[in-house]
Amino acid sequence: MDKHEKQEAAGTPADAAAEARVDEALQESFPASDPPFWTLGPERPKAAEPADDPQKVRIYSGLGNAAAYAIRDFLHRCDVPFEWVPLNDDAPAEPLCVFPDGTRMAAPTIRQITDKLGWFRNPSRTEYDLAIYGAGPAGLSAAVYAAADGLSTVLVERWALGGQAGSTSRIENYLGFDQGVSGAELAERARRQADKFGVEILLAREGRGAELQPGRGVGILEDGTRIVARASICATGVAYRCLGLPDENRFLGAGLYYGAGASEAPLTAGEHVFVVGGGNSAGQAAMQFALRARQVSIVIRDDSLRRTMSQYLLDRVEAAPAVEVLARTEVTALHGNGVLREITLRDNGSGTERRVPTRWLFVCIGGDPQTSWAESIGMVRDQSGYIVTGPDLGRGRERLQRWPLDRDPYYLETSIPGVFAIGDVRHNAVRRCAAAVGEGAMAVAFVHRVLDGS
Ligand SMILES: Cc1cc2nc3c(=O)[nH]c(=O)nc-3n(C[C@H](O)[C@H](O)[C@H](O)COP(=O)(O)OP(=O)(O)OC[C@H]3O[C@@H](n4cnc5c(N)ncnc54)[C@H](O)[C@@H]3O)c2cc1C
Repeated sequence: MDKHEKQEAAGTPADAAAEARVDEALQESFPASDPPFWTLGPERPKAAEPADDPQKVRIYSGLGNAAAYAIRDFLHRCDVPFEWVPLNDDAPAEPLCVFPDGTRMAAPTIRQITDKLGWFRNPSRTEYDLAIYGAGPAGLSAAVYAAADGLSTVLVERWALGGQAGSTSRIENYLGFDQGVSGAELAERARRQADKFGVEILLAREGRGAELQPGRGVGILEDGTRIVARASICATGVAYRCLGLPDENRFLGAGLYYGAGASEAPLTAGEHVFVVGGGNSAGQAAMQFALRARQVSIVIRDDSLRRTMSQYLLDRVEAAPAVEVLARTEVTALHGNGVLREITLRDNGSGTERRVPTRWLFVCIGGDPQTSWAESIGMVRDQSGYIVTGPDLGRGRERLQRWPLDRDPYYLETSIPGVFAIGDVRHNAVRRCAAAVGEGAMAVAFVHRVLDGS
């Protein structure tokens, strides 16, 4: 039996009353399912279940609990059915998860949850043909194409499958999905494809470092696990950019969220939601919240959304009665005691500031690559930290001098032979799902050449 299956909700005497309320809520008992139907496998059913489905994971927590938000976000992205049961302010500080087989886990980490779901794995091979780091659209695509071609392939993801795309409720410009597709569904479909072709997926595992030589790369995970592969692909995308306000971390998951917050949308009914950013991700988020929220305010520094948002989204934003655009405006402060209660908005035209009440602030202002590990092993990056690949490595004598082979680097190949970078993490990338997926497929063609020594 899994060690976490025996774990019981921790409680202190001070928590007794709240524990009792949790117990009361748990009286709707959970029939044992044997095995839980979401266990990772090719036939895992879709998440859309009736609201009263007892097969859901239930998360009990107080409002504005950052740990509970992380769990909701993870389960949502993984397409695992769940329900959040909000408790009063005097509830235990840490969230409690109850699984359909009755297992209770107090304050579980994401790793413990993946363990419980049967998803936590160690690499099964001593060496792979290809190791891919990052399971957004680019990494998933590379994994599917590589495994379909018969390469032994491992895909390492530090959070959940889908990357940035996994956080959005509707991608409308991805070819073949004329009605749009949610990021979670796209990721789940890709996971099933990867599974079908035999990709080994290591979830909730983070690549932290590497020892890379031509023909043999060693990726080092956060717990010291080493993954050896003949070729490697970095598809680690970008991490959300912060507002840069004091105390920002204090409100993360407790009123302040980065990205489109698809897991939170159902919770915003009747509320005033603020979305910071003028790009398509902000537009998608605003339209999603407008389905339920009383009002949605898009906050932008620019004069209008025209330069930054696709026309189809702009038309929808303009036509939505519940959505307003606060142009030439910035969020300059966050207020609340543990949970976000108000924000300060500054009108950059007049210089005036005002405080407005809200419990929902979503920040969609793009991201930055997290590639300090690449610098530490001498991989060429641009000034912003994006990884330079292929023909761009030839621009500048200094870069060319670092290349050790007679042949030129392949397109998408980094300054280290046999190591590729694809998707948003790449210098000059087109930041779109389709581009990321295309680069994933293309990189595999070059991986074959590297493995064949041609
Ligand atoms: C809210 C939102 C809506 C969007 N909507 C659209 C749209 O409608 N149409 C469109 O074309 N594009 C859209 N985009 C852009 C699109 O999602 C991105 O261009 C695309 O996801 C890039 O894919 P990627 O695989 O390169 O990187 P990412 O999606 O950023 O994925 C990178 C993955 O790598 C993982 N990772 C990072 N570091 C490590 C590490 N050290 N070890 C292991 N794993 C790691 C991350 O957790 C992540 O899962 C949207 C983006 C956002 C944020």
